[in-house]
Amino acid sequence: MALRILDAIAERGTFVAEAGTGTGKTFAYLVPALLAGGKVLVSTGTKALQDQVFRKDVATLTQALGLRIESALLKGRQNYVCLLRLARTEAEGLLASRQDVVHLRAITRFARLNASGDRSELAEVPENASIWPTVTSTRENCLGQECARFDDCFVYKARRAAQAADLVVVNHHLFLADLALRDDVLREFLPKVDTVVLDEAHQLPKIAADFFGSGWTLAQLTDLAHDARALGLHAAADGAEWISLTQSIESAGRHVRLAIAERGIAPGARAALDRLPRLDELRGEISRIDTALAALADAVKTNQGRDDELDALGPRISGLRQLISTWIEPESKPEPAETDGNEFVRWVGLTAHGAQFQATPLAPGETFARLREQQPQAWILTSATLTLANSFEPYLQDIGLPRAQAQRWDSPFDFARQALLYLPQSMPSPLARDFSELVADAAWPVIVAAGGRTFMLCTTLRAVERVAEQLRRRMAIDGTDLPLLVQGTSTRTALLDAFRQLGNAVLVGSVSFWEGIDVRGEALSLVVIDKLPFSPPDDPVVEARIRRLRALGRNPFLEYQLPQAVTLLKQGAGRLIRDENDRGVLMILDDRLLTKPYGKTVLASLPPFSRTRKEEEACRFFRRDP
Ligand code: SF4
Repeated sequence: MALRILDAIAERGTFVAEAGTGTGKTFAYLVPALLAGGKVLVSTGTKALQDQVFRKDVATLTQALGLRIESALLKGRQNYVCLLRLARTEAEGLLASRQDVVHLRAITRFARLNASGDRSELAEVPENASIWPTVTSTRENCLGQECARFDDCFVYKARRAAQAADLVVVNHHLFLADLALRDDVLREFLPKVDTVVLDEAHQLPKIAADFFGSGWTLAQLTDLAHDARALGLHAAADGAEWISLTQSIESAGRHVRLAIAERGIAPGARAALDRLPRLDELRGEISRIDTALAALADAVKTNQGRDDELDALGPRISGLRQLISTWIEPESKPEPAETDGNEFVRWVGLTAHGAQFQATPLAPGETFARLREQQPQAWILTSATLTLANSFEPYLQDIGLPRAQAQRWDSPFDFARQALLYLPQSMPSPLARDFSELVADAAWPVIVAAGGRTFMLCTTLRAVERVAEQLRRRMAIDGTDLPLLVQGTSTRTALLDAFRQLGNAVLVGSVSFWEGIDVRGEALSLVVIDKLPFSPPDDPVVEARIRRLRALGRNPFLEYQLPQAVTLLKQGAGRLIRDENDRGVLMILDDRLLTKPYGKTVLASLPPFSRTRKEEEACRFFRRDP
């Protein structure tokens, strides 16, 4: 793999490599990339891998190879404390809770003492603390070179370090931002790079679809209103009715959210705009936001020259108005630069307190490929899960690179000895009403045999709750007490830490637990998957992509839905065997694996596990010596 990658680097070509778990894929790309010289950019999908590559692998290799290499880790701007917003938050003293006050104090101390300002180094303020958006910047509200704190700004210090480094590790969002020339932390960086490595490349089509789209959120709106009120009152209190102006914006936003909820969209759900009833009325509500923004824009203009930060609101308001304007006019298209002439679907989604308005391109791979063509360097795309039954075709089509060179390297693990795939004899139909309860019942004896140490991966949050509830009932009936960790009861990191420490826990989770998790050894011995993780066909993006492929005379199931589900299934299954000493059972409870013609393709895509349909054999696996 390293030699093939070295060739691709020399030719400045595109090379796609699937490397099964345990092949040492990071070494296989880092060694040739470092030895070839020049500037290297590595982009990953998850923070876990970003940290592993930067902190472990690069350090090990540069030492082993005797190279003197400057490397840097660059994250999205929301990962760094924004000194300007931190100072403003302190000065305002308007925090919502006592917890926020405690966190603000910790962040202020941290910003004074820490060199990087990277919030992951401040353990005492949790990732999901409500204070973070107030003291970090976004692309819209950052003042960049106009900022009084620009010279000591953490975001720009990290960017300068990255620019000077030989090897930079980033994430796919930053990489795509630079590729699409979106103004963000990484800017005009790619032209200086000689080798690009995109690890966890299976995530790229999905991230590209989100990224090459365009949209806005109610959170952006409330953020703007909050900033305008604070800045207006601070710098030009006599210049306008800042409170009522900003309250009108917030109130118009609340009305829009209510109007969406009244159309039957629940928090967490999303729907195609053109499927919503009484669309004209909804457009009318959205246009009230624009009217309120226009009034604020006038006030900012009237007070121009009184304060730099207040002045900077002008372009921010007009940027947001431009995005919103395409949601008011029927048949209007998103900003052409944003969707690159691609067909797109326009959808709205509701969150617990906000709403999102997004236009998603239906063929993001086309944009990706066009942007790749404009870049002169070598591109290496790699992941453990790119093929469908040994074929790269669906992935290459999806990412827009159908003619790219591609090759697979199998995992060196002895799956037939180390792992057992258990497909129970009588599997319930995934359409059965009590499917989740039946899943928990069928898995329970195997969980007991495994002594806990189980991941139960479900396809929906509703299924997580129902499976967990049924497991609690089974434990009560049997008098067997195993620690049960359920998604939603704590953060993902806290649940995983608890899982590792307890050593006999059962963790029930949905999609976010299917990938990017590394639990080695005996702590994880059983992975139970309720059903094949097909994306819901009524999701607006999935539905529109299916419609588009059908219109082109292609087969959406085989080209899009099945490959996506198999990638996720392979990721879920991949949690089980992490090194040559790991052993475990993978249990899948979806009878479509055996009853549908595509079941064979799915099974052929999984590693070559031993197989059984007998519960007794699955239970015995845990009693056998390795
Ligand atoms: S340059 Fe941007 S991120 Fe940095 S301190 Fe100023 S506003 Fe914050």
